[in-house]
Amino acid sequence: MDAKARGFACPRCTVGRCAPKTTTFVDVYHGQLLAMPNARAFICDVCHFVEFEQEMLDRLWEELYGEVAREDLQSVAGHKRSSTYGES
Ligand SMILES: [Zn+2]
Repeated sequence: MDAKARGFACPRCTVGRCAPKTTTFVDVYHGQLLAMPNARAFICDVCHFVEFEQEMLDRLWEELYGEVAREDLQSVAGHKRSSTYGES
């Protein structure tokens, strides 16, 4: 365990301490609500600033949206190409 695992000074209020806890991670992706209970995060005991573990977010993103995100990128790129350059 590194030092950060035990908490760190809050970057928002600078008074509180962000300690590891679990909370519900909520996000909106393509107009759909995503909620993940018991997500690990560091939460400030004063202003309740929440910082989710980047590792957790990366893993979540890859698992849930990895495929979809890639497809979206490709379709957007394809659309852009055809509308920008047309059929010559
Ligand atoms: Zn704070």
